[in-house]
Amino acid sequence: MDGSNGAVIHSRGLSKVYKGVTALEGLNLQVPPNSIFEFLGPNGAGKSTTIKLLLGLIRPSAGTASVFGQDIQRSSLEIRKRVGYLAQDPRYYEHMTARQTLRYTARFFYQGPGDLIEARVEEMLELVGLENKADRQIKGFSGGERQRLGIAQAQVNYPDLIILDEPAASLDPMGRHDVLAVMERLRKYTTIFYSTHILDDVQRVSDRVAILNHGQLVAEAPIQELLAGNGSAVMYQVAIKGETWQAQKLLESQPWVQQVLSSEGDCCTSLQVSVSDEEAAEEHLLRLILEDRGLMVKRFGRKTYNLEEVFMNIIDGRNGNDS
Ligand code: ADP
Repeated sequence: MDGSNGAVIHSRGLSKVYKGVTALEGLNLQVPPNSIFEFLGPNGAGKSTTIKLLLGLIRPSAGTASVFGQDIQRSSLEIRKRVGYLAQDPRYYEHMTARQTLRYTARFFYQGPGDLIEARVEEMLELVGLENKADRQIKGFSGGERQRLGIAQAQVNYPDLIILDEPAASLDPMGRHDVLAVMERLRKYTTIFYSTHILDDVQRVSDRVAILNHGQLVAEAPIQELLAGNGSAVMYQVAIKGETWQAQKLLESQPWVQQVLSSEGDCCTSLQVSVSDEEAAEEHLLRLILEDRGLMVKRFGRKTYNLEEVFMNIIDGRNGNDS
């Protein structure tokens, strides 16, 4: 047993100190297979440091990690054979075309039969949507096209894990959209671990998100859980037409209701109900309101948070605790 429990990436207490600067502190991470795992954090949070550690490019100051159950220090060469990596700012021979570049990569790294190289190049071009630009020089490529070419290169050997360092950081919305679409397409073939400081990316494609700040992991959860306000109070929002004070009092008397806040809108009264027991709320909340026959419920649902709110809450909370 290697202790990774089938996780593609598994770390325990992984830390890195550069000449007195703590870049990463006690990272415990578990990346499940076939997920798109998002590593989110502001600049300087320690994302690139983690990626370099996982690839065996630098050595940890403390802690351990494995990729495919293999130790990152002892087995870094074996690990790298199964990983596709795209650096933050990929460099190319600008006069070469996308097809020539991929052919070049495939000649070096493709481990399949040599006579299938052209077919593999064609496959990769299609996968990243560059088949129509295949014979153009890279110097005319947009940022998004460059990143997609980089993803194609990282994909040459059918890797079991793709690591992308800020794949969408410098792109315009269109370029970002295209790169994220390619990542979604790759999901069925491999596990994707990617870093970003852009919140929008997370909401669109990721399955799980780990949030890093000042070298420390501050949250890690499936994206849906974070958006439901993981760690915050569970809250329901109800929009009601009619006289609501009685319903409000009834709700406040329930043991599982923590607080009811009401505000008047154009058509309705809005109630925000914080609850301590989600199951009880699902079962009784709406029914209790509807007991008052004079009321009409226009909207009912659990409050979801956008990722920006979650992120800011977590980061602010931590900074507040530090000071
Ligand atoms: P991110 O990728 O999240 O922007 P990094 O991992 O690049 O963050 O950096 C984390 C911290 O470590 C920063 O404070 C950065 O200045 C520091 N750092 C990174 N690389 C080095 C290095 N080679 N020498 C000294 N400090 C470094």
